[in-house]
Amino acid sequence: MLELFENLAKSLDEAQNASGIAGTLREFFYENFNTEDCKIFILDEKQNCIKSFENNNPAETFDSSDKISEVFNVISDKKIVIKNNLLYYELPEHGRSIGLLSFKNGDFERLKEFLKTASYIISLKIQNILLAQNMQKNIDFHELMRNIAKIIETQYELSYIIPLIGEMIDKFMTDLLVYIFVKNDAKFELMWPSNCNDKRITAFLDNLEDTPKSIILNNGKTGLFPLVNENRILGCIAAKSTGDDITETDVNYLEQLAKQSSATINRANVYAEILKHATLDALTGFYNRRQLEERIKQETAKAKRQKTPLCAIMIDIDFFKRINDIYGHAAGDLVLKTVSKTMRSQLREYDVAGRYGGEEFAILLPFTKTEEAVMVAERLRQAVENKKIDLSKINHEMPNKIIDVTISLGIYELKPSDNAGDLLKEADKALYQAKETGRNRIIIKTDE
Ligand code: GH3
Ligand code: MG
Ligand code: MG
Repeated sequence: MLELFENLAKSLDEAQNASGIAGTLREFFYENFNTEDCKIFILDEKQNCIKSFENNNPAETFDSSDKISEVFNVISDKKIVIKNNLLYYELPEHGRSIGLLSFKNGDFERLKEFLKTASYIISLKIQNILLAQNMQKNIDFHELMRNIAKIIETQYELSYIIPLIGEMIDKFMTDLLVYIFVKNDAKFELMWPSNCNDKRITAFLDNLEDTPKSIILNNGKTGLFPLVNENRILGCIAAKSTGDDITETDVNYLEQLAKQSSATINRANVYAEILKHATLDALTGFYNRRQLEERIKQETAKAKRQKTPLCAIMIDIDFFKRINDIYGHAAGDLVLKTVSKTMRSQLREYDVAGRYGGEEFAILLPFTKTEEAVMVAERLRQAVENKKIDLSKINHEMPNKIIDVTISLGIYELKPSDNAGDLLKEADKALYQAKETGRNRIIIKTDE
């Protein structure tokens, strides 16, 4: 017997985790006691249920109609239950039970004797593993908190940040479905994942308005954790369990995660606001050259990935130098301002308008084929041509001096083989032709 205890202790020493222990025991008891199966069940005190130690699933029965939880109730009293071909044995700790072992068939007489002592050895090892699991979970949690805080170092767009946070929390909270909503114009918008079919969650979000505290819905399986900044609700993390009730530990984790996420989202908003001013050209309000290049890369990649059309229009104001020469730079600036504003009013929200340089502009039209781009270009051309610019606004020595300007435009549609750099290069060639052939016109760059 003594040798057996030593062997057991030695093999358990080598096991690193729950499945390692389960495997070791299965093998050990098969070899030494002829048992067909050996399982470990652990009391989950937080959830008040018995779980399989190996896979953390709620305990099921095997080869018996007994419910493991019922066996557990008996075993905490009697230490051992034998029923037909099954033997159950308590996993003891200081006079109470932390779970039970179950064995199928085998040399039960010797086994009973052996378990009187062995159950303590096994129990101790299991508790060590549970402790290590807990510690690992806490380490993972702090790592997660740090990573959420770190996102802001590289990203400030919510459409990017939120799915990132969602994925991270999802990986950590394996037992829960996690949703993240962001409040947009008084409405909660789901930003992670792409779908939420739970009507209870969406219905409850409206109640969050005056409760910036977490709420556990009646069934205990759904939690809402508001994202709050200075008492203003930015959004909400919703967590839904498909199995057991949400535990106190998980609520605690989620509350802290919501706090960290709020801080990140808030800082992203502030940062985006600051960056907006740094990315826009001060005179026209269009994207500046640097940001334009960035957007070209993004839109090109998106168009290629989604296989959607993308057109670029290069635009140059005709004879602009003359305006500067005749009326002065301030007049030139007013023309630039007026032309860009006039063009912007002809574009869709998601069209990208950038100032390429001096009096040259680049416009990206996502989801747009050449034919539509020509119509947009023609709208731009006409709108600018018809726009009356009153120079007396900036120079009172020129009362009622009203001028108009024209623009030349070159269009190019992205081909699958193109890269980001080709887009404006080709559109610019078309623009050059428009200048060459008389200005105030549109030329489409084609392969011919
Ligand atoms: P074309 O139609 O053939 O392009 O003739 P153009 O006169 O427009 O030719 P060009 O491109 O050489 O002239 C552009 C002028 O735009 C030259 C530069 O002084 C002026 N310019 C560039 N940036 C600004 C600006 O921010 N404000 C003002 N007022 N003028 C600018
Ligand atoms: Mg020019
Ligand atoms: Mg010009």
